[in-house]
Amino acid sequence: MKARFSKAGRTGKGIMARLVMKFGGTSVADIARIKNVAQHVKREVDAGHQVAVVVSAMAGTTNQLVAWTREISPLHDAREYDTVVATGEQVTSGLLAIALQDIGVNARSWQGWQIPVKTDSAHGAARIADIDGARLIERLEQGQVAVVAGFQGVAPDNRVATLGRGGSDTSAVALAAALEADRCDIYTDVDGVYTTDPRIVPRAQRLSRISYEEMLEMASLGAKVLQVRSVELAMVYGVRTFVRSSFDDPLAPELVSANHPTGTLICDEDEIVEKKVVSGIAYSKDEAEISLRRVADKPGVAAA
Ligand code: ASP
Ligand code: MG
Repeated sequence: MKARFSKAGRTGKGIMARLVMKFGGTSVADIARIKNVAQHVKREVDAGHQVAVVVSAMAGTTNQLVAWTREISPLHDAREYDTVVATGEQVTSGLLAIALQDIGVNARSWQGWQIPVKTDSAHGAARIADIDGARLIERLEQGQVAVVAGFQGVAPDNRVATLGRGGSDTSAVALAAALEADRCDIYTDVDGVYTTDPRIVPRAQRLSRISYEEMLEMASLGAKVLQVRSVELAMVYGVRTFVRSSFDDPLAPELVSANHPTGTLICDEDEIVEKKVVSGIAYSKDEAEISLRRVADKPGVAAA
């Protein structure tokens, strides 16, 4: 990736910050949830920040779109797969722009090709090659919110490309790098990154901060909060990434005034004061260990 994709040079210490706010599928699952997202965005706009929003498709939509491409032909063309599955995010970007306009927030939707978000040619699992942030920055500086369809870009063949499942996290972090944003807020259905899966271990604790390296390890080992590639990008470009819940009341006083309500900040190790020896435990459900005992210690026996 090129120079304009370089590590953010701004410090965010001033009153006004530039934020990327990303909302996943459960956060935009229906019209009420989209209106809730609009309130989260309005809160940041009212606080004086420049905001670019990245949205996923409504929960379940991408699965349905993928299923249709398989049903119509198991061996379908990857370019047409992308044409179909990229539509989920087009819908939510337009709906959120309407919801924002409806509450008096100046907003405009953007598809990947309009920015453009340039990808490589690996249709269906493309990687972002470059994002030209110039047009968006111009709009942000005019006070307009950019609502960007996640998960998609445009490939060298000038056709729509998608980034692989869960790719809107990567869209958000890459956009934050390109826009030199002060922070990338990932709004999801959990309030942060936990030491292990709280649904399995009730005593799991939320981490207030975790380093890029440790988050990368946890994501690679199966923690599902973020797509692995988004964490890689955050680490390479130094994008401070804050995982938080969209289910909090968007107008709660602590959210309006505080910088860091409940959530987990993924950041440089230097920003973490209290270092833990073990940050977390990720798990995988599709692996098993089988012990065979009393097997003669001779070549070929175990294999047989
Ligand atoms: N909608 C896409 C998916 O379900 C991208 C994303 O949500 O991150 O994989
Ligand atoms: Mg996701």
